[in-house]
Amino acid sequence: MPEAASGQAELDALRALSARVGADPALTQGAGGNTSLKVGDTLWIKASGTWLAHAAARDIMVPVRFEPLLDAVAAVDPAAEQAHRFTIPERNVSGLRPSIETTVHALMPQRVVLHLHCVDTIAFAVRTDCIEQVSPRLEGLNWAYVPYARPGLPLALAIAGYRAQRPDALVLGNHGLVVAAETVAEAGALLGDVKARLRIEPRAAGLPDMDALRALAAGGDGGTPYRLPDSAAAHAVAMDATSLAVAARGSLYPDHVIFLGEGSAIAEPGEDAAAVARRLGFAPASVVFPGKGVLMRADMPANGDAMARCLADVAARVPADAPLRVLTAEEHLQLTDWDAEKYRQDLARKAARKIA
Ligand SMILES: [Zn+2]
Repeated sequence: MPEAASGQAELDALRALSARVGADPALTQGAGGNTSLKVGDTLWIKASGTWLAHAAARDIMVPVRFEPLLDAVAAVDPAAEQAHRFTIPERNVSGLRPSIETTVHALMPQRVVLHLHCVDTIAFAVRTDCIEQVSPRLEGLNWAYVPYARPGLPLALAIAGYRAQRPDALVLGNHGLVVAAETVAEAGALLGDVKARLRIEPRAAGLPDMDALRALAAGGDGGTPYRLPDSAAAHAVAMDATSLAVAARGSLYPDHVIFLGEGSAIAEPGEDAAAVARRLGFAPASVVFPGKGVLMRADMPANGDAMARCLADVAARVPADAPLRVLTAEEHLQLTDWDAEKYRQDLARKAARKIA
C-alpha cells in the first residue's frame, strides 16, 4: 500500500482504539488523555479539549509537523508550548488545535503513542516510592519513570532526557501513562499488558446516603446550587476512611486541578454545601461529605464529573500506608496560570453551555 493509504488505514484503526479506551473511565476521563500516529512528516494528534471517547464518531485528529516542533523543544523555545503553530492548516479539516500534550507524542520515536490517565498507573504515580513499586510489575519491558513536570514544555524536556533509551512505556509521576509502538495493534496490546501488570484491586466502599445528599444540596439561604454527580462511583471517596485521607492530602495530578480546583473540599460535621462555600469563601467545584457522598456544583461541565469519579477510582487504589506526593503550591500556580489550559477550559465551558 502507498504511504498515504496505509496511513489512512492506520489512522482509522487508531480512531477505533481511541474511542475504546476513551469509553473506559479507568483509562480516560473527559477531555484527558490523547493518542497519535506519525505518517511521514505528519503527526496526527487528538485535538485539545476533545474527548477520546468521540474519536470514532467525530474528526478530532489534527495534523502537526512534528520535526519543527521537536526543534523548538530542543531549543527550549516557548513556541513548543503552542503546538497549534505547527499544525498543517490545509489538512486540518476540523480547524481545532492540537492537544497541549503534543510534544509528549512528538518526542516518542515510535509511530503510535497512547497517553492515558490510567487510574491504576496514577495510583502508583502519586507515590514517592513509585519506581520501587512499579519495577517488579513492569519487569522485562523497556520503560522509564519520569518525575512530575507541568504538561507542555517542562514535561517535554523531562521526557527528552529518556529518548536515547527509546522506552516503550513511561510512567509519568503524579500524572499517568504513555505507551508507544510501531502499529496501533501493538500499542493496544502493550496497553492491555501494562494495565494488567499495574492492576490494583480497589477497596470496596459503602453505599452513599442519597437522601442526606439531596438535603445537603439544597443548601438553603441562597447558597450556590449543588447536584448529584453523573456517576455514582464518584461517591466512593466519601465512603472509605483511607480514600478520604488520600483526598485530604491535596491535588494528586494536573487534571484534578484544572477541572476541580486545588485539592478537595471536605465538609465538616453539620455543614451543608452552602456552609462549606461560606467557610471557604467560594463555592468549590465539588464537595465531599464524609460518610454520605459527593455533590457537584450545578454548573460544572462533564469534565468535572469525570474528574470527581477519577478521584474516587484513584483513591480506592492507594493503600493507607502509601507515601504520597501531592502537587505543590508552585505547581498549582503553573497549571492555573497557563494560556493553553485556559483554552481547554474555555472549550469545556462552551460544550457545557451547548448541552444545557
Ligand atoms: Zn496527561
